[in-house]
Amino acid sequence: MSSSRQSPPISRESIAVPTIKPLQQILPSEPLLMMGAGPVPIPEAVARANSQVINHLGATMSTIIGQVKTMARYVFQTRSPWVMGIAGPGSAAMEMAVSNLVWRNTRVLCISNGYFSARLAEMSRRVGADVKVLECAEKSQADLDQVIAAIEEFQPECITLVQGETSNTICNHNLRQIAAEAKKRGCLTIVDAVCTLSTMPLEMDRWQIDAVITGGQKGLSSIPGVSLVAFSEAAWERIRTRPGTPVHWCLDARLAENFWHKGSYHYTAPVSGVLALHEALRLVCEEGLERRFERHRRCSGALQNGVEAMGLNLYAPQSSRLNSVVGIELPQGIASSDVCAQISRKYRVEIAGSFGLPIIRVGQMGEQCRAQNLFRTLHAIGCTMRDLKVTVDLPSAMAELESCLIDGAG
Ligand SMILES: *Cc1c(COP(=O)(O)O)cnc(C)c1O
Repeated sequence: MSSSRQSPPISRESIAVPTIKPLQQILPSEPLLMMGAGPVPIPEAVARANSQVINHLGATMSTIIGQVKTMARYVFQTRSPWVMGIAGPGSAAMEMAVSNLVWRNTRVLCISNGYFSARLAEMSRRVGADVKVLECAEKSQADLDQVIAAIEEFQPECITLVQGETSNTICNHNLRQIAAEAKKRGCLTIVDAVCTLSTMPLEMDRWQIDAVITGGQKGLSSIPGVSLVAFSEAAWERIRTRPGTPVHWCLDARLAENFWHKGSYHYTAPVSGVLALHEALRLVCEEGLERRFERHRRCSGALQNGVEAMGLNLYAPQSSRLNSVVGIELPQGIASSDVCAQISRKYRVEIAGSFGLPIIRVGQMGEQCRAQNLFRTLHAIGCTMRDLKVTVDLPSAMAELESCLIDGAG
């Protein structure tokens, strides 16, 4: 042993049974309304599915996997067969896309709007890629001309970007154009749609995107821990012919193919989570993407107008604003941690701060976009501001919310 630290003496007594509080003493008696940046509330059908365990292999699972893939293709808007699930968070799906398509010395252009897009760059660096980061101006979506110039200069094999940057509520509304320009120049596009998928349009095939990533606990309103990725035929060809094997065994797409496409074993799938995802996707299909986008547009717009009518400012300018997560500027001298603690303790609503920015964030993903949740949340925000001695016009805010929801529904 080279350690110079003294280890504690080894006790000869066995370890006693610990005293543990049952969950019901820890969890609130009434669940908090989850209006942060994820996880989001889950529908009853998803919760029920999540409470079951079935065999991870065999005929039943195979039918379920087939349906999950079919529904996922609709949600991703792709005809590519190469859709698969991942046991892990959205970040594991990001890492699956990156670590299969990118390897030592791959030139990767990472378009960065903030925290999550920077994570794609970090993942690329960790597999040894030659990474160039294109930083977007503050509160701005990616600039198409700058992206084109960077592609022409750096000649990347892959580019990475987010559709929506959840951390600062900026949206790359020009994703379609970026992917088209990348494709013209022979480079693959990897898109993180963790917070946006099924909340706003994304058409993988028509927009010529090569890999799309999503998580369970945001737009899809499933549980955290089971995620999805779709690869285009071109991306799959790159994976099939790549030199060597990816470093992460669990995230090796060709091993995952065994389970997701050949009915055999890779690792034991998170069966309950897959059942939950099945139900979440089924509900998306039942609603239909167009109607679902319209619900998100209407609800998020109504919330944004309500916030402004209250006298607070939105963080992102309209031209680059994300609807899936709404960022609200904090009044001078107010900390996001104080707002989040007060609204949770007194009004039983959970919202989020951000990574160092003076904003609070309210999610508008999946089940969060329901009129009753909006009324409760906007009211709770107004009351919390009053509690913190901020002057707000709560009646106007509520009236604005109501009129937007009614008008929009007409
Ligand atoms: C939440 C989120 C992630 C990370 O998802 P995890 O499930 O927390 O790993 C990545 N990208 C975006 C855009 C997100 O919103």
